[in-house]
Amino acid sequence: MKIHNFSAGPAILPASVMEEAAAAVREFNGMGMSILEISHRSKQFIAVMEEAEALVRELLGVSDEYGVLFLSGGASSQFFMCAMNLLDAEDTAGYVNTGTWSTKAIKEAKLFGQVKELASSKDKNFSYIPKGYDIPTGLKYVHITTNNTIYGSQFQTLPETDTPLVGDMSSDIFSRPIPVDRFGIIYAGAQKNMGPAGVTLVIVRKDLLGKVTRAIPSMLDYRVHIENESSFNTPPVFPIYVSMLTMRWVKAQGGVAAMVPLNEAKAKLVYDEIDASPLFTGVISDVADRSRMNATFLLKPGYEHLDAEFLAACKAAGCDGMKGHRSAGGYRASIYNSMPIASVQVLVDVMREFAAKHA
Ligand SMILES: *Cc1c(COP(=O)(O)O)cnc(C)c1O
Repeated sequence: MKIHNFSAGPAILPASVMEEAAAAVREFNGMGMSILEISHRSKQFIAVMEEAEALVRELLGVSDEYGVLFLSGGASSQFFMCAMNLLDAEDTAGYVNTGTWSTKAIKEAKLFGQVKELASSKDKNFSYIPKGYDIPTGLKYVHITTNNTIYGSQFQTLPETDTPLVGDMSSDIFSRPIPVDRFGIIYAGAQKNMGPAGVTLVIVRKDLLGKVTRAIPSMLDYRVHIENESSFNTPPVFPIYVSMLTMRWVKAQGGVAAMVPLNEAKAKLVYDEIDASPLFTGVISDVADRSRMNATFLLKPGYEHLDAEFLAACKAAGCDGMKGHRSAGGYRASIYNSMPIASVQVLVDVMREFAAKHA
């Protein structure tokens, strides 16, 4: 049976990327060896690294003022690395708290400097993106989580400030164009919208570095990774290769701008079904804040007893990974770049038939 993979991450990748990656595991580039066993200093892998960096720069419009890094340690390591590299003990950074990942980022930043929580949507279980708050001057940076993978909300406009933003874009990188010059740092764990788990993309404005007084271990110092072109130590070779293939695929679709109407159409399909449904209701209270990447919904009050039955109906139709995160409950359809609209239609049909049967 065909599986429609709605998992939040590690997540679906384009079928063509999977084919190429599988072939490279058997033999890479006519070398008589697998991509898994070649040196990261080989000219063949250096070419992969160079193409990956060039694709990031081309797809997102990243200038030479920024370093483009492929690091390990996940987005979770960026929670502390950005603070460690940008924030001295007496400096203050602003954070907008929009969910589990922002909360974790705040906790780690507090180890290195002062954190001012500019706004939070915790009062309503992170069901909206805060708006209309003040951003004082004098902050080192303002951190946002552009897409809240767990709760299903997404910034549709950026906070108004001249302070450089630091953006956790783990679950919406490459899904839409971004004004890179507004950011000091952009980071993204690959396993949502970019590639397999194991590599984290970091885009960092070079002139912001080297300003803190603390000693930084080499492996945690962005400058060391910039100088060494992400090969200070052995980089995650295979995840970088597969991410590069995915970026090639995005480029072949017409680039990041071409992903927007496709992602909008998929999101509209799910949200229209939620809004028309007698059985389901959306999680995000302000519909303008709904994520185009992770659509979250619940059974309406009085229908909660149907939970297991709905998940079974999804499973029977091949819709995998629909259970919501444990802290949000309900259901989550992750509809990243590589998710075909035909798969979203299968899910919507399941939702409609289920509602017709039970409501
Ligand atoms: C998944 C996720 C993370 C954590 O990523 P790891 O690579 O597992 O550390 C952080 N932020 C966001 C927005 C995520 O979706």
